[in-house]
Amino acid sequence: MLLLPTSPMRQSLFRWMPFSSFSTVNVKGGPYNFVDGHKTDSMDSNGFTNVLNPATSKRLAKIAVSGVSDVDMAVKSSKKAYDSWSMLSGFERGKLVSQLGHKILKNLEALAHLEVENNGKPIWEARLDIQSCADCFLYFGGIASTISGKHIQLPNSSFGLVKRESLGVVGGIGAWNYPLQTCSWKVAPALACGNTMVYKPSELTPLTALALAELATEAGIPRGVFNIVQGSGETGKHLCCHPDVAKISFTGSVQTGKNILKLAADDLKRVTLELGGKNPLIIYDDCDLTNAVKGALLANFLSQGQVCSNGSRVFVQRSIVDRFTDEFVKATTQLAIGDPLDNKTQVGATVSKTHAEKVLAYIKQGVGEAPVQLCGGERVHMPKPFQNGYFISPCILTNCHDEMTAVREEIFGPVATILPFDTEEEVIHRANQTPYGLSAGIFTNDLRKAHRTSNRLQSGTIWVNNFNVTPVELPFGGFKQSGIGVECSTEAIQCYTQLKSTYIEMNDIDCPLYNTQ
Ligand code: NAD
Repeated sequence: MLLLPTSPMRQSLFRWMPFSSFSTVNVKGGPYNFVDGHKTDSMDSNGFTNVLNPATSKRLAKIAVSGVSDVDMAVKSSKKAYDSWSMLSGFERGKLVSQLGHKILKNLEALAHLEVENNGKPIWEARLDIQSCADCFLYFGGIASTISGKHIQLPNSSFGLVKRESLGVVGGIGAWNYPLQTCSWKVAPALACGNTMVYKPSELTPLTALALAELATEAGIPRGVFNIVQGSGETGKHLCCHPDVAKISFTGSVQTGKNILKLAADDLKRVTLELGGKNPLIIYDDCDLTNAVKGALLANFLSQGQVCSNGSRVFVQRSIVDRFTDEFVKATTQLAIGDPLDNKTQVGATVSKTHAEKVLAYIKQGVGEAPVQLCGGERVHMPKPFQNGYFISPCILTNCHDEMTAVREEIFGPVATILPFDTEEEVIHRANQTPYGLSAGIFTNDLRKAHRTSNRLQSGTIWVNNFNVTPVELPFGGFKQSGIGVECSTEAIQCYTQLKSTYIEMNDIDCPLYNTQ
């Protein structure tokens, strides 16, 4: 789900871009809900959540778990705004959505800093994430005016109009690993299509979405079109159950996705579910080894391994497994772990104590199931002021087998498992032995083999000779239990609209039921 620069040109553009130090992003002091164009306090909170900086464990904010009345107020505001927002032309809406993209670019450095403070990822990654958010608004702003229906000729000059209409108020619920990107991937297409949105960020990382709501107002997006309610899963449930919410667009774990699908079933709300995975990375022996090692690093150790599309099941063809493993371990042990705001840092802090403990427990269990721990997998103790941060050294386990818990379950941490294989047929079969199907990677110099393998892998996204590159132009979504629907690309338009057929009769009606005598 990471958006890496897609071309060398874009990479160099990124390097010289003069980031503005001026910032309108100032959300840490609260209030933390955003309704009808203003930051507001919760009216009926069910407790509070401390929002921490994962690198220091220092408190950044204390957010309320918004209650039923908070959600209701936000939905009412979005419902009211929908009446006029949905009536604008696509071109008018697109200009405002694009304008928000420009605001994000202007505030890129401030937003990236805020994301780092709240999430713990290294600053270079956060800059790319925020750039990808801007891309998303510019992309959907650009195509808003092209969203259209069709005219269909019927007998005797009658005709049909097929109109693509917005849905109404969309409820967005996000995860903590790509806080602003998750939010942007929902808000941009939803608004471009003429919907309004009430968004609930993860309770661990609530701040950048709030900053986005402020920037949306500055960009001229009318009040109520994009509202924020903060809170935990309880708040999310209220949103899923609200009768005036037409659709839920969710990013998070498979289990929560299933719970949300059940809640949405009560009044048949539409859903987009972007869920987890346990993805294969297949390295054939005819690959470019250096690129394969780079691919394995990208597939496992971005954002401290907390990436839904990570390729942590690293299948390596037996004839190169030793050479690949040596190079992969060498590169991994050189990764710089440290202050996420330091430009030289490559690996930052795991999002929370609870999550770090879960990752370390998986590693311990994994090692107990026979593999060899080649590197990492330990808590790294840092000097002040990071002594209470949760830093984990990137871990490679070898001698793994397909039945191990660490190979079957999503760890969502920096843990790569090496799985040797012999034949193409075998690896495709083993790669598909999972209930999930979010992504997969293939490294080979044989294009026919790449296509054969890609055709048979049961995953929504497949990278050939790269990994974790998600340009906004390509659909992103899961097969099997990794999700329903897609984000990004023109395909996302289908997920935020519905079709209306209007039949226009141009003649007197021929009605056998009508008796004049
Ligand atoms: P999570 O499922 O615990 O929480 C996600 C969001 O759902 C949070 O905002 C949470 O408050 C809310 N929530 C929890 N219970 C709810 C309920 N019953 N009803 C409504 N809302 C509820 O996931 P997480 O730990 O925040 O994120 C990690 C997971 O997200 C991983 O499994 C990862 O693979 C997945 N993810 C998927 C994608 C993707 O695009 N496919 C992207 C990022 C993360």
